Amino acid sequence: MKFKFFFNLFLFISYLLVMGNTFAKTRIVFLFGDTHVGASAQHPDIVYKEKYKEIILNLKNDNVDNFVIIPGDLTHDGFIDSEKVEGCLPCFSRIQVTDWRQWDGFVQEWVVPFEVANMSVYFGIGDHDYPNRAQYVRPLDQIYGRYKKLSSIITNNNHAYVFKKGNTYFFCCGLYPDSKIRQWLVSYLRKNNINNQPLYFFYHYNNLGDESNLWSNADKDAFYELIKDYNVKAIITSHWFNTFTALWREKKIPLLGVNGKFFAQLEFDDVSGDFKVQFYSVNGEMLITKNFNDLLRNDLQELDRR
Ligand SMILES: [Zn+2]
Repeated sequence: MKFKFFFNLFLFISYLLVMGNTFAKTRIVFLFGDTHVGASAQHPDIVYKEKYKEIILNLKNDNVDNFVIIPGDLTHDGFIDSEKVEGCLPCFSRIQVTDWRQWDGFVQEWVVPFEVANMSVYFGIGDHDYPNRAQYVRPLDQIYGRYKKLSSIITNNNHAYVFKKGNTYFFCCGLYPDSKIRQWLVSYLRKNNINNQPLYFFYHYNNLGDESNLWSNADKDAFYELIKDYNVKAIITSHWFNTFTALWREKKIPLLGVNGKFFAQLEFDDVSGDFKVQFYSVNGEMLITKNFNDLLRNDLQELDRR
């Protein structure tokens, strides 16, 4: 009798655990790039983005998990515009730590206010966060320090990490998915038995449009081959001064460019990974709503160019 009771209890708890993993939750992620902390007040990134915080905090839905992704160019070369010193990156340098204002400024301006509102902030580096000078230590140790509990890789000039929301994976690929990051990605996908689970990727350099040649076609081909047979829901990029949506190559992988005048609010189901996305202007007006099927009917659609 006692055995039967505990056996049934065991079955019931197992059922709850299994069902707990399959109940879909809606989650919301706000997407924008290129905060350029430290640029002059007239810099377009400062002008357009300074109002984002307030609007996003108003839009956030307290009934669901809300978080933020900022794919690079967090700071403006580590300088205040008027104080540029050739070749020096004081905000991240271990050698000449004379000025941490931009890094601290980024955290104070773009991380703390969201975290206070119970929203996680995930970010990567961009080309403005450090120059290609070997003598300076990259901001990667700062980023890595923040996410060291997550599975991640830090290389000489790039970094990647992954986090999970429900059954949905988000991979940060730093500046872009270079060969070392791709190696890490392959082993992570294999080790974690990832087949059909929904995946999102975010990194700084855009796949299409102006300056998309900052990463080579060979790198793009290799990345595409790596991900094309997975269940990729979207790739989120920044850098190009444009808000855009596009479909990438034969598999029509949705691309979202989030460095124009608009930020994106992407609402997704954390079991299927399916999303709908809305773009908002700095005045908080909704520009356009897109669901997954709308995206499939479009090629590169520039929503805004500034
Ligand atoms: Zn950039």
